[in-house]
Amino acid sequence: MGNKTGELDLKFFIDTGFEKKVCEKCGSYFWTTDPGRKTCGDTPCDEYTFIKNSPVPKEYGLGEMRSLFIHFFEERGHKFLKPYPVVPRWREDVLLVNASIYDFQPHVTSGIVKPPGNPIVMSQPSIRMTDIDLVGITGRHLTSFEMLCHDAFNSDHENVYWEDEAVSYCYGFLTEGLNIDGKLVSFKEKPWSGGGNAGNALEVFVDGLEVATLVFMDMREDPAGEAEIEGIRYSKMPMRIVDTGYGLERLVWLSQGTPTVYQAIYPEIIKKIMENSDVKDFDENFLIDVVKASVMFEPYDEKHAISILKAKYPDAEKKFDEIRKIRDVFVIADHTRSLMHMFQAYVIPSNVKVGYLARLLIRHALRYSEDINLKIGINDLIMMNYEGLKDLVGSFPAEFSKKMIEIEIEKYSDLMVHGKDVLNRMVKSKGKLTVDDLIVLYDSHGMNPETVASLLETRGISMDVPANFHAMVIEKHEKAEIRKNKVNIYPDIKTRPLYYDDSTMSEFTGLVMYSKNNEIILDKTAFYPEGGGQPPDYGYFLYRGNKIQVLDVQKYGNAIVHRLDSDIPAGIRVAGHVDMDRRNRLMVHHTSTHLLLGVLREILGSHVWQNSVQKDVNESRLDITHYSRIDDETVRKIERRCFDLITQGRDVHVRNMDWYEAIGTYGFRLFEGGVPLTPKVRVVEIDGVDAEGCGGTHLKNISSIGILKIKKIESVQENIYRITFSAGRPALELFQDSYSEISAIADNLKKKPGEIKDYVQDMQAENIKMRKEIEAGKIMLLERDLEESPYVYGGEIRMIRASSAGDVKLVSRLANRMKVDVLVEAKEGDSYRYMIISGKGDAERIAKDVIGAEGTGNGRYYEIKGDKNIHEKLISFISDSKSVNGK
Ligand SMILES: [Zn+2]
Ligand SMILES: [Zn+2]
Repeated sequence: MGNKTGELDLKFFIDTGFEKKVCEKCGSYFWTTDPGRKTCGDTPCDEYTFIKNSPVPKEYGLGEMRSLFIHFFEERGHKFLKPYPVVPRWREDVLLVNASIYDFQPHVTSGIVKPPGNPIVMSQPSIRMTDIDLVGITGRHLTSFEMLCHDAFNSDHENVYWEDEAVSYCYGFLTEGLNIDGKLVSFKEKPWSGGGNAGNALEVFVDGLEVATLVFMDMREDPAGEAEIEGIRYSKMPMRIVDTGYGLERLVWLSQGTPTVYQAIYPEIIKKIMENSDVKDFDENFLIDVVKASVMFEPYDEKHAISILKAKYPDAEKKFDEIRKIRDVFVIADHTRSLMHMFQAYVIPSNVKVGYLARLLIRHALRYSEDINLKIGINDLIMMNYEGLKDLVGSFPAEFSKKMIEIEIEKYSDLMVHGKDVLNRMVKSKGKLTVDDLIVLYDSHGMNPETVASLLETRGISMDVPANFHAMVIEKHEKAEIRKNKVNIYPDIKTRPLYYDDSTMSEFTGLVMYSKNNEIILDKTAFYPEGGGQPPDYGYFLYRGNKIQVLDVQKYGNAIVHRLDSDIPAGIRVAGHVDMDRRNRLMVHHTSTHLLLGVLREILGSHVWQNSVQKDVNESRLDITHYSRIDDETVRKIERRCFDLITQGRDVHVRNMDWYEAIGTYGFRLFEGGVPLTPKVRVVEIDGVDAEGCGGTHLKNISSIGILKIKKIESVQENIYRITFSAGRPALELFQDSYSEISAIADNLKKKPGEIKDYVQDMQAENIKMRKEIEAGKIMLLERDLEESPYVYGGEIRMIRASSAGDVKLVSRLANRMKVDVLVEAKEGDSYRYMIISGKGDAERIAKDVIGAEGTGNGRYYEIKGDKNIHEKLISFISDSKSVNGK
């Protein structure tokens, strides 16, 4: 533990009178100015001593503390940045922002993109779902919090500040900004690693509370690296980053010394919940002791906490139950805050990825609301959270939030009814349930494990719910998909993309730089390689008078690789011909996709995000996030809007912009199609409609689209809709083909095209009527047959022959109605099936006891197993019976 090399023996520590010590409890190295201090300041080496005894002379609210921090660092040359959304649209490897450094990974931390300021100060809302089971219980855990940071990005060109200055700023903020006595502040050495990076770090404590972590990130994962942390090897990286994190909520708590963090950060929301629920009062002193006890061990365990409290409270168990409801209040306040941040980022609750995390928070909040009989809605509390954080988050989609909560409440109550049936079936077939069963019941049927456990208890089945149940469920869902890179086996040749200079260029000559296995790389090419959902160009190269066909074009690094139908050797110049008809169709569809996305967002709302896209020559598809079916009238409206924009002839601009300039202008929407890891972003903008970072080829003006027609909209997974459409000439062909077909049908029917719809509807109605009449006739016949059918097996059962599966169904209905038992012989092709249909509910008994046959079924229906002997036996018995009855 700790840093033995003395790398953190900083000049600041020495000059300011700090002393390096070894914690007498945990053995860590730490720095303090208090000669009497023997422990590192962290729990459980130290206790929480700030509750009801704050070391900060002034009490701060969230807003005041945030401003104090930001101003403190702005005054010291830090650039203030607005917070990013909690859903990191600028990266593809994580679902939620967990810490402020996420805002700069990987584009800035890897050194590719220049930081938006240096050094910077900000307060970044973050969501961590892993602690969800501890929220409310420990007094200190939150699912969402603001991370304050003052970060510096050092590189070869720019040296901003490093360990000494960072620690000096931190100490300065605590002692001058907050006026905390310097003797109470301790810095504990602890190497840090995470997300492929590592470095020295200092954890900062005041009165037992960890208020900040200062990370000095200067290493990256490298199997050949010289340093080792927790079994992983690291080497120095080009960037040296001061990455600090101060818990805003913790600083506020420290300044107020309330029993729990919740009471310090949203007192009004807690008050509101209590006013509108069963929770009126609680034992504050006991709550304080619970909070203090819960920091004395890790991980949290209720039994352990109770055993500690028993020393002071003999009835600790009972008192624990009494404060359970105030903890429900804290949970609801916490979850509605996280939901506010998620809705601000337009998360649609669903069963996958970040949508699932939102759904889980809603269901959790709903359940706790039931427990305390809450009389105000979840959305009202979300709005209250927003009002309190307006200055931080800016605008908020209130209507969207309301709608999402309404939809989820409806789905939740439907599920609860259905879930109980599923539980009953599970219990019946398995007897005892496993944790996996609990997860299925929770995930797919909305049943929380405590409800399941109590339902099971009423049947005398005991079920232990793991304390970290929700964290387990989240872990299953939280892994974001990481796009795999193609394996690059090609030399690092830079091919100049001529299609970017001129998207209408069809002929060019280039020098073959590499050739192997019918694959060539040129110094330049007009062939577009597959990318961004746009398929590759086709065409040919002229070589020795032959047309060598281009079968595929792919990009690897900077090299554009053409796969051919035969070989062209390296070292020669060749003329290339791009199939411009194909390219044009692809461009029409690509630009149309951008147009359609812009229009969808305009008509359906800002929650519409591109989920995926695939362009092709005749039609394309665009998958978007949306929460309800899109009706015909809306489809027409979308098509009309596209048509109007196309006829207005909006220009399409392509610009290469600096990363942060592009985001500043267009926002993170730019990255809907993917995140570029390049210093510049290629922005494709349709005037006033849509702007996307995109590497595709585009029309210069959308008037070249001609027309856009939506062919189909279908739901491909919960809250993802797939829109298939045609644009340009294929759209015209679609109209032509459909009209020809309709005309031909109309001619056949001797009707006008406009009359077909009504005519077909009439025919369908007639058809249904006729089918019903036929069925009624059939029933009459079968009824007569049944009445007149012979008795077999001593007169208890009738026998009937059915000629189709439909007949069997009818017999079954009749047998129930007439309360008769029937042995049915159904012909299926060349073979027969035999079954007992019992109107008296006796099928199984009749099959087994009377006929002596084996099979499967129940009281109403029993299918006799296809054993050859049984069939023969039955056939002979049937013919015997017939002769007995004389029919
Ligand atoms: Zn210690
Ligand atoms: Zn695009």
